[in-house]
Amino acid sequence: MDLLPNAPPAPGRVVEVARGVSWLRMPLPFALDHVNLWLLRDGGDVTLVDCGYGDAATRAIWARHFDTTLASAKVVRVVATHCHPDHLGNAEWLASHFGVPVAMTYAEFMAAHALIAGAAGLGPADIGGLFARHGMSGEHLAALAARGNQYHRGVPEAPHAFERIVGGDDLALGGRTWRVVTGYGHSPEHAALACADAALLVSGDMLLPRISTNVAVWPGEPDADPVSRFLDSLTRFEALPADTLVLPSHGVPFRGIAERVAALREHHRMRLDELSAALVAAAAPQSAEDVIPVLFRRTLDLQQRFFAMGEAIAHLNHLWQSGRAQRLVAADGAIRFAA
Ligand SMILES: [Zn+2]
Repeated sequence: MDLLPNAPPAPGRVVEVARGVSWLRMPLPFALDHVNLWLLRDGGDVTLVDCGYGDAATRAIWARHFDTTLASAKVVRVVATHCHPDHLGNAEWLASHFGVPVAMTYAEFMAAHALIAGAAGLGPADIGGLFARHGMSGEHLAALAARGNQYHRGVPEAPHAFERIVGGDDLALGGRTWRVVTGYGHSPEHAALACADAALLVSGDMLLPRISTNVAVWPGEPDADPVSRFLDSLTRFEALPADTLVLPSHGVPFRGIAERVAALREHHRMRLDELSAALVAAAAPQSAEDVIPVLFRRTLDLQQRFFAMGEAIAHLNHLWQSGRAQRLVAADGAIRFAA
């Protein structure tokens, strides 16, 4: 077994993680300060997998890659694992620069356009409305409202057209066959890419080495149980060969899918147990806002509070959907949970 590539590439540089597979890293304007992108090479042909946050800092680094990494390459396709800004932010910009299509799943394509338009219950006002029902304070709601459409800031333009990929598809990319493995709970129809022959998995955000993937409820689907969707999706990765090298969107490449999936299952089991215990101990029904300190024992900035709220609602919905908690809806729409 070869050595694990665990020293991230500097901005504008690449690290070869397997024959024909290069690792790029781009900055992010958040506490989570980086995202990993991948290049799949077949001779001079290159497929870009994920695109980075759609801001000037990332585009400046891309411009360096155009002149160096990609100087003698022919970019043939852009693949986006999902619609989040650190993955899709520059997809349209890259696709039009190279005159190539963007391959992604149908739900991620539609969600990107809905998020930009604030349609389908995915606008900032919808998010504020959901969080208000779950007890977010007026101060935090005002701070969220003031920042406007954060998604559109990170994805200035969604792809105008796309090549649809579907779970189970075999894609010929970079001289290898990659199977699309769809996953749920983090985004509408996340596409990971598994190459059985080379024992590689581009896991996107579905399988990360250290942090747990954000699993959140969104206002268009307020009763959703994304925790179950996410945990069910992990079984698809457990079926991959044990020596598979996982190429995650955050952190560094790793092996040991089964151990990581087991740790994530345990993580969510413990969080749910702690949340359930907190509901039992509480003197009154609890809002998602009330239980954020049970799930997150640290100070949260606005972006982290946004993720924490969606995550708290997701875990409460899971307890409710699995019969471990009651959901109480007041006449004014306020949602609380009780044991
Ligand atoms: Zn994501």
